[in-house]
Order: sequence, then C-alpha cells, then structure tokens
Amino acid sequence: MKNILCLLCLLSLNWSFAQKTYVHCGQLIDGKSSQVAKERTIIIEGNKIIAIEKGYQKAGEEDKLINLKDKTVLPGLMDMHVHLESQSSKTRYMESFRLNESDLALKATMYTRRTLMAGFTTVRDLGGTGINVSLRNAINRRYVEGPRIYTAEKSIATTGGHADPSNGLKQDLMGDPGPREGVINSPAEAKKAVRQRYKNGADCIKITATGGVLSVAKDGQGPQFTMEELEAIVATANDYGMITAAHAHGAEGMKRAVLAGITSIEHGTKMTPEIMQLMKEKGTYYVPTISAGKFVAEKAKEPGYFPEVVVPKALEMGPLIQATFGRAYQAGVKIAFGTDAGVFPHGENAKEFIYMVEAGMPAMKAIQSATMTAAELLRIDDKLGSIEVGKLADIIAVQDNPVDKIETLLDIKFVMKDGIIYKQE
Ligand SMILES: [Zn+2]
Repeated sequence: MKNILCLLCLLSLNWSFAQKTYVHCGQLIDGKSSQVAKERTIIIEGNKIIAIEKGYQKAGEEDKLINLKDKTVLPGLMDMHVHLESQSSKTRYMESFRLNESDLALKATMYTRRTLMAGFTTVRDLGGTGINVSLRNAINRRYVEGPRIYTAEKSIATTGGHADPSNGLKQDLMGDPGPREGVINSPAEAKKAVRQRYKNGADCIKITATGGVLSVAKDGQGPQFTMEELEAIVATANDYGMITAAHAHGAEGMKRAVLAGITSIEHGTKMTPEIMQLMKEKGTYYVPTISAGKFVAEKAKEPGYFPEVVVPKALEMGPLIQATFGRAYQAGVKIAFGTDAGVFPHGENAKEFIYMVEAGMPAMKAIQSATMTAAELLRIDDKLGSIEVGKLADIIAVQDNPVDKIETLLDIKFVMKDGIIYKQE
C-alpha cells in the first residue's frame, strides 16, 4: 500500500510540474485565420498546444523557451500526394529489378527525413509497394525520422492500366497480377482489392482512374475503370472508413470517379468546367501536383531520362496542370495541397506554393490548402491543420512572412512534430 501511495504521489508531482514549452512567435499564421498575428506565445505540454497568448509570456524555471521572435511561425505543412518509397532518376526503372525491399526501405528513410526537414509534418503516400506502411509504422515508433504518414499502400489499377506493376515487362515475367497485387477487372475484384489494402495496413485508397504519364504503357489519359468498379471501390472504402483518391488526367475517367463519390482528384490535368461544377456539388477535393507536371515535362527533353513510351505523354500532360489549377481555383473547387514528390526530388515539396501563387492563388490560401484544408481532406482536422488550443504541436517556422515572400517556405528554420523538435537553426 505504501508503495502504491508513493507511486501515486510521484506521478501527481510529475504531472503538476511537467515541463512546458513556450514558443515566442514574432509572427503567427495559425492555418485558420487569414490574418498574420504579431507577438504570440504558444504554450505546449507534451505533444499538445495548451494555450496561445498575446505578447511574449514568461516561461517558468522548469520550462523550455524557444525564441522565434524574428521568424514567422506556421502549422506543420501537409502534402496530400507523395511517393516516399522512391525518387525519379535515370536508373529508377532498373531499380525495381536490382534492389531488394530492404534496400528500398533504407533509402526511403532518407526521403522521409528530407520531407520532414522541409517542414512537412504530415503526408499522404499515394502508392508504392507496401514499404510505405512499414515507413509509417517505423516513424510512429520513432525508429526513423519522417512525417506522419497516411498511406494508400499499393494503388489499385486495372490490367494494363496505370499502376499495373507488370506493365512493360516481357511476357514470361508479367504473370497475372490480381486484387491481391492491386489489379482488378470487376466490381467483385474491386471490393477484394480494397479489403486487401485494408488488411495490409493502408489508411486510404488510391486508384488510377485514367492512364498515366510514367507507366510503361501507351495511353496517358483514357478511362481505365467502369462505373460499376468505381462505385464498388468507393462503397467498400467507405465501409472501412477510408478516404479515396483518384489519379486522373483525361476527362472521362475523372468524371466517372467524381460521380462515383471519390474523395479527391489527383493531377486533374484535363479537368473541364463541367467536372469542376460536379466537384463543387459533390465536395470533391482537387490535389493539383503542378510540381510533378513541370518536372516530367522538363526531364522528357533530356534524352534517355524516361523510357521512350513515356516521353510524348510527359510532354503533353506535364505543362497543362498549372493552368488547370488556376481555372479550378477560380471556379471555386476545394484545393488541397499535393505535389507528387518522388516524381521529383523529395524535400522540394514547397516549390508547389510558388507555382500555386504564380497561377493566381493568394499566398495565404495556398498555405491553408497545405494546413487546414489538407487536414479536412484527411479527416484529422480535429487534431491537426492549425495552431489551436487542444491540437497536436506540429509547428514550423520560416525567416520571412510567406504572405509577402512565398519563397521563404523553401527554407525551413524550425520543425516540431508531435511536440518534438526535429530542426532548430
Ligand atoms: Zn503520384
């Protein structure tokens, strides 16, 4: 009994004298308000924000003080479209034959770290081989450094479609991938593929609703799922509490995905005014990935960078996305920030902000697309997406006010995720 009492009294002592962290913010963008606040103190206990006060509040002797008086503080950024398992290079296609999963996983820890240091504390991984599930778990257990990951595990495709893992192989290597491998050819297989992703540890579902640029296949935009297959995918994902994302370049496949009730359209390259209207009615998010479009269009000019079949698709699709984004924003489609990092180097995610502003989105709105709107898309806006009392302490800082100088987001000075400091310059 005596021991128990002592333990209780120690616990309560520890609780009442728990160290708090005081962050003195010169300027504060909270992710919700359209105003930049001046001279604020964020008080953090454990991994939670417990107070935000005006002025620079004095920290107690036991507490930790972080001086960001000459910086602008923001919520941790969120990228809704990354592929953490790999990164584009001339040798990328060969790597899938030469590297073991363990090689790929260890290499990916470098990408997760770069992403976090670039100020992105949460990402949605929209498709790999399943290493992304292990990365998520390893980061959550703090074996490696990286952003909080919401992963789709493996993208779901149709036979020969974008994300059929055997595209372009010689026939005796092709095999016949099925729902287990994320390839479906009927509503029944679609359901099975979704359930398999759930079983494998996915948080969300990604499908390739149309052809794509980087697959070793001719078509880059035609529809690749029937309406019945799409409806089966969305309904099954809903049953398991998973949101859905559809890669889509061409209009027909994109429209079907929106009608089926998909949560977000990725790339949206040839989005028509009719689809924009439908998306507004349905509440569908648009995740533009302008960065990927620009990168592939540029690299397609470099001889030998991509396989031959990819080049014309990259040249056609790549340059269209930025203008589509501008039109979708003007039309009032909900925009959630996403880059397709992995198609271009990890850690350069923030370039997307510059492209968004270039296309006509105000800087503050671009920031909110990567904070509050992204959190709403992931349905985690009760705990992330803004600097508010009760939310998790995901906080970053930059030198200048990004509203006046958006490029400042390329140079992150401070990163805190879940109350832990990962970068402090
Ligand atoms: Zn992608």
